[in-house]
Amino acid sequence: SGAEHSSGKRILLAKPRGYCAGVDRAVDTVERALETYGPPVYVRKEIVHNHHVVQTLRDRGVIFVEDTSEVPEGSLVVFSAHGVSPAVHEEASKRGLRTIDATCPLVTKVHKEVNRFARKDYDILLIGHEGHEEVEGTSGEAPDRVQLVDKPDDVDDVEVRDPSKVVWLSQTTLSVDETMERVHQLQERYPDMQAPPSDDICYATSNRQVAVKAMAAECDLVLVVGSQNSSNSKRLVEVALQAGASTSYLVDYASEIDESWLDGVDTVGVTSGASVPDALVFQVLDYLQEQGWGEVEEVTTANEKVSFALPRELRKDLPENS
Ligand code: SF4
Repeated sequence: SGAEHSSGKRILLAKPRGYCAGVDRAVDTVERALETYGPPVYVRKEIVHNHHVVQTLRDRGVIFVEDTSEVPEGSLVVFSAHGVSPAVHEEASKRGLRTIDATCPLVTKVHKEVNRFARKDYDILLIGHEGHEEVEGTSGEAPDRVQLVDKPDDVDDVEVRDPSKVVWLSQTTLSVDETMERVHQLQERYPDMQAPPSDDICYATSNRQVAVKAMAAECDLVLVVGSQNSSNSKRLVEVALQAGASTSYLVDYASEIDESWLDGVDTVGVTSGASVPDALVFQVLDYLQEQGWGEVEEVTTANEKVSFALPRELRKDLPENS
């Protein structure tokens, strides 16, 4: 038994982690828009919920706004990956803005489900986090038909017109387990409730949760790289704790790691949210190695091959085959 073994300081690195296809496309969209049209490019809301990504784009001439009313008439505005309601599209067109819609196709899919069930006059119970941009956009497809279910207590407040015409849908970046708890609660009230035609929680969200679960029980500490306003990143901390990690923290940067977190820790798990560039993860690994951790062992639970074409309104202005 060598000294290297008894020290036992291991790093487990989750795979998949980091960028999903929707984030990749949204960031790429803004970068290509900058190259193609030149600054300023306006972006409504954070293009993706990551501090570093937003700051990097801001340095390159992107102007982030909360609302399209802040965009000068005739300017170019990109809509973020989280999606926008039809009202936002209308307002932008009224103001003569040029728009590029970087909404993730998997969010658009949920928008379409809302429309389809609203047209059939269903009551739609949308499981999601109050105030999250995606939920605002999705509900905005049929504001009179959608009720948001966030906390367990919200289930009691739901009121439907016809219990045989109820469907649940969800935000794409929730905890898979917690969502099913909410569904079971709702099913007790509405046994005939329909389920979404296909999973609303996206492949990237669920894959990252499966990967962190696979390593969490072995970890004294799980570090999740991601921003505080990133729903899927925050869920990874919760899932890590539920799956047996002793502690878990969310950090934007390696510099946010508090040395005291490492006291008495042997195995550290590392993962990152769907909006996080891998460079930030490598900085965390470098930091840990400076603190005496050696070996990095990747824990792979899936290989992702999803990718999405850039928005059509941008593609038409790009050189061919780029
Ligand atoms: Fe799309 Fe899922 Fe990524 Fe959100 S987390 S942008 S829904 S792939």
